[in-house]
Amino acid sequence: MEKTYVRAGWLIDGSGGPVQNDVLLELENGRFSSIRPAEENLQQDLARVTDLSHCTVFPPLVDSHIHLFMSSTTDRQTRERQLVADCEELEPAIARHLHYLFSHGVLAARDGGDRGGCAEAFSRSPRMHPEMVLRSAGRAYHRQGRYGGLIGRAVPADKSLVKTYLEDAKEGDLVKVVNSGLNSLHVFAKQTEPQFSQQELEELVEAAGQRGQKVMVHANGREPVRRAVAAGCHSIEHGFFMGEENIRMMAEKGTYWVPTVFTMKAFGLNLDANRTTADAKVIEKNVEHQLDQLRLARECGVRVALGTDAGSLGVLHGESMVEEMKLYKKAGYSLSQMFHAATVVGAEMLGIDTFSGIHEGGRATFLVSRGAPSQLPRKILYLEAIYRDGKPSDLYRKNPVKHVD
Ligand SMILES: [Zn+2]
Repeated sequence: MEKTYVRAGWLIDGSGGPVQNDVLLELENGRFSSIRPAEENLQQDLARVTDLSHCTVFPPLVDSHIHLFMSSTTDRQTRERQLVADCEELEPAIARHLHYLFSHGVLAARDGGDRGGCAEAFSRSPRMHPEMVLRSAGRAYHRQGRYGGLIGRAVPADKSLVKTYLEDAKEGDLVKVVNSGLNSLHVFAKQTEPQFSQQELEELVEAAGQRGQKVMVHANGREPVRRAVAAGCHSIEHGFFMGEENIRMMAEKGTYWVPTVFTMKAFGLNLDANRTTADAKVIEKNVEHQLDQLRLARECGVRVALGTDAGSLGVLHGESMVEEMKLYKKAGYSLSQMFHAATVVGAEMLGIDTFSGIHEGGRATFLVSRGAPSQLPRKILYLEAIYRDGKPSDLYRKNPVKHVD
């Protein structure tokens, strides 16, 4: 097959290293066959060079924590309906949310669960988005009487977590466990009790490992997070108020962390729509505290994968990637570092080898945004093109994003 070339004004390769200027990408058989400085190499094959010297090129985005069954809408009726609807009723919304994600260059995502396992069922159906990869947790496990009913199934009080899991014969590559409550919007840094013992979590991690499944754990607060990390779970979701010791233990054990900062901020932005007695000042302090933890996690070398909790109130699928990235910037992340968390680390956590960043020999699947890197992350909202295996995606070109919820 013949070689083609793309001249990129700027390249963010996803490794976390510095942005490169004026690069010539050589594409062959859907892969990058070489990546070189453009200036010295442009004498050859000029006719086959696509000139993107006014653009920035970067790897496909990965949203490591979403919920497809829920719209981010502030319309209370829609939200309440989605919490009780069956899979058939939810299907159009799930398809729409996938389209929003795709339109913002999110080519892979991890769904954190829903009550009916609808997102997981959809991902296996012929109606699944043809150009996206979805990993889904299906129905998350929570202890009967505790938080988690909206996104999963209860483990009865007299039954162990692993027994319930084994009886379910759960398929797929992920298991989700809810091991704490939600964060308080009234009392700063309020902790909740863990839902499961460390032994129960250990048993689950082992049983899941035998089926080749990874365990993602919703956990906020010191003890709920400590037990999950010590039990060897694969990732901590949210992790608000987990504290320095847990952050250091995660760095040591290689546990992934998905901090979902924007979802907390969005609660504050939508207080009226939420019509709760939530306290704006508490929410603001929660956000600040999480950013401090994120700063520390970066210093300690924790594998941070960017996730938005899209579907949560005011957290739009796709668009909220930009909001989450802006918060990483506030926590001291450089542009390259935030793209690293939003691309390569997420892909690695999800086990998607084909999205391992832009490097020689890798798949030529990448995003193009108009302008210099200084326009990012904002320009993710208006991508110039999505390339898949060396060619621009028609699906992207022909289906502009239009939010209806
Ligand atoms: Zn979630």
